[in-house]
Amino acid sequence: METLTIVLAKPRGFCAGVERAIEIVEKALAIYGAPIYVRHEIVHNKWVVEDLRAKGVVFVDEVCDIPDGAITVFSAHGISEKIENIAKLRDLPVIDATCPLVTKVHTEAQRYEAEGREIILIGHAGHAEVEGTMGRVKCKMHLVATPLEVAALKVDQPDNLAYVTQTTLSMDDTRTVIDALKKRFPSIKGPDLRDICYATQNRQNAVRALAESVEMMLVIGSSNSSNSNRLRDLGQEMGVKSYLIDDEKAIQPQWLEGVNSIGVTAGASAPDVLVGKVVERLQQLRPAQVKTLEGITENVRFKLPPEVTSKPFEALRKVS
Ligand code: SF4
Repeated sequence: METLTIVLAKPRGFCAGVERAIEIVEKALAIYGAPIYVRHEIVHNKWVVEDLRAKGVVFVDEVCDIPDGAITVFSAHGISEKIENIAKLRDLPVIDATCPLVTKVHTEAQRYEAEGREIILIGHAGHAEVEGTMGRVKCKMHLVATPLEVAALKVDQPDNLAYVTQTTLSMDDTRTVIDALKKRFPSIKGPDLRDICYATQNRQNAVRALAESVEMMLVIGSSNSSNSNRLRDLGQEMGVKSYLIDDEKAIQPQWLEGVNSIGVTAGASAPDVLVGKVVERLQQLRPAQVKTLEGITENVRFKLPPEVTSKPFEALRKVS
């Protein structure tokens, strides 16, 4: 049996926003005790959600599902002002785990609104981050995902427009949408590709390099993870058969037939423990050597919020 070469992407897996969000929940559990209520999945990863659920986290879809007085965490994807206000009205003790890079996009949108501009958001309908960003301004925001949607867009102030983007899109797709916007509305203001976060960019660059050296690619991530889907799409676009998998259990032995090199990466919300399990499973199926592609080392780290460093809700603590 021919030896398989497994090539790991670098960087891959957890970004600073995901690490921070999970650490916030872990610290909240340690300080205030279970249950901790989290609105929406803290990050889009089944393994992470199940792990936290087992430790006493209750995930809910809406703030109205949270009991009075319960410690409440908002997920890394951000929330609309309306949801924030409902929690305030109910006087819920809230810890906001919104990624600071998502908050930056909210601030940009609010700045454009204050300038009186009509705003376009480049993003995918239904994604939690998109719903949060659209709910951060009072004016109407248009949502587009493709150049075709730009062509069909009906705006009231064609000479007074601005755009912002979802943080986890494909850099290539976003560039084509921005180009279409600039062509149709030459005076439009926007941050270029700067809203695409560093982690999304770095993981996409690493997948590009990986796709050049392997015959097949496995992207570890959940099906509702935007950045993981983009990594799989990118591999496919580069002509490499690419699969998005939750974990090692999803690997089909027949995928390895006729394949001698497999690239492995993980979306920004997928933990490295799953990479280890995937490598182990591949090694069970075929003798394999493992190497890591050269890539940049990330040193980004975001500050934790005061609610998990100075314990302002300590009176609500159930365990010491
Ligand atoms: Fe923040 Fe980027 Fe991670 Fe999203 S992918 S949580 S924007 S660092």
